[in-house]
Amino acid sequence: MLQICHEFHQPVVPQAGLTNVVGGTDTNAHEIALSLERMNQVEQIDVVNKTVTVQAGVVLQQLRDQVAAHGQLFPLDLGAKGSCMIGGNIASNAGGLQALRYGVMRNLVLGLEVVLADGTIVSSMNKMMKNNAGYDLKQLFIGSEGTLGIITRAVLKLDDMPKTRNTAFIAVDSFEKANALLLAAKTHLKNDLTSFELLWQDYYQLMTSKPALFAPPLAQHYPFYVLLESLGQDADRDKQQFEAFLEQCLTTDLIVDAVIAQSQKELDWFWGIRENVEFIFSVHRPVFLFDISLAISEMDAYIKTIRLALQQTWPDVYLYTFGHMGDGNLHLFISCGHDDHTTKHSIEEILYTRLQPIGGSITGEHGIGLEKKTWLYLSRTPEEIALMRTLKKALDPRGILNPGKLVPD
Ligand SMILES: Cc1cc2nc3c(=O)[nH]c(=O)nc-3n(C[C@H](O)[C@H](O)[C@H](O)COP(=O)(O)OP(=O)(O)OC[C@H]3O[C@@H](n4cnc5c(N)ncnc54)[C@H](O)[C@@H]3O)c2cc1C
Repeated sequence: MLQICHEFHQPVVPQAGLTNVVGGTDTNAHEIALSLERMNQVEQIDVVNKTVTVQAGVVLQQLRDQVAAHGQLFPLDLGAKGSCMIGGNIASNAGGLQALRYGVMRNLVLGLEVVLADGTIVSSMNKMMKNNAGYDLKQLFIGSEGTLGIITRAVLKLDDMPKTRNTAFIAVDSFEKANALLLAAKTHLKNDLTSFELLWQDYYQLMTSKPALFAPPLAQHYPFYVLLESLGQDADRDKQQFEAFLEQCLTTDLIVDAVIAQSQKELDWFWGIRENVEFIFSVHRPVFLFDISLAISEMDAYIKTIRLALQQTWPDVYLYTFGHMGDGNLHLFISCGHDDHTTKHSIEEILYTRLQPIGGSITGEHGIGLEKKTWLYLSRTPEEIALMRTLKKALDPRGILNPGKLVPD
């Protein structure tokens, strides 16, 4: 199909679960939308070598379920897991709720099969942890957002299915304490530390006040809340260790309050508060969402600065902040002004131009797509962008793959 499209200069837009939020799968009238949803087979689960060979159209949740039936964990976990597909996850280098421990998609892919723009099939279905035979070509396509090739199959890494899950909602009285808690959790919980999600007070209050679905597990007056989770293998030791850690944090005033989930219902409750972001759209309109990356040491000052800057233009602005603090990646949901390009552009200017001097990135997870293309220069040097153009030209000389996305014109 790609051979024919190449011959006739026919643009093709690869589509998977359509959960990207950056216009990455938008099509124009003359473009072909290429869905891989029927390439939906999990081909081989290798429990000895801990790999799974999978087609690009497999839905992430289905992959997680299928490998779990073999006692294995595929550790990519994100809110859209019921719809997003492996091809889309790879093309967008998805991260998520357990990236602190297991890494992002880039760390989970061992091998790839890709169809190039001219129809050439590049099979690089490596299964080994180490392979230094030349360029690591798969990395070129991971995070390329459908602009360099169509991902059709992949070999992914599996991990041990955890036997224990300890989860707590924690209140802290400053950002500095949240950071100290993160460092302490890394020391005490070691490799079991899986998620460290930070919620600013506004977000916590919104998500735990009526008409929201969830009651507050902790009082609502603290400035920051942490959702901490560790996954382990030792039922007796892990619970004890987790409780002892929190006890010690309370005694040393590192944290001011904490509650540990005691049942699946409480786990759903805690994670619901963090994940049910769609609720914001039922309360506010318009809502603009962002996924930025920055050094943990810069986060608090950055959020304070942009809050002030936003308030200067829109005194009644709502800024909800939360995210994967452990990975230096925050989500901002902002409601102000009108649902138009001018408002969005003004917010982007406030957010993105203040990220550049502190070495942050305009996207930690969602990628560039159409929406952030004009801001790419704030996160990449002219030389990097020139090299991206060179790669695009070399692999897709007729510009038929996801035209207009990611690479600035
Ligand atoms: C509620 C919610 C929560 C989310 N949470 C997270 C999160 O925690 N972490 C995170 O990283 N993202 C998150 N996202 C964003 C999104 O889910 C991810 O980017 C996801 O990986 C996209 O997968 P998809 O299958 O929906 O891809 P799509 O949206 O269909 O496509 C994404 C990009 O990949 C390209 N593409 C798709 N399939 C292929 C293929 N086979 N070959 C080549 N290119 C292809 C598309 O052209 C497009 O550019 C979230 C989104 C929502 C709605």
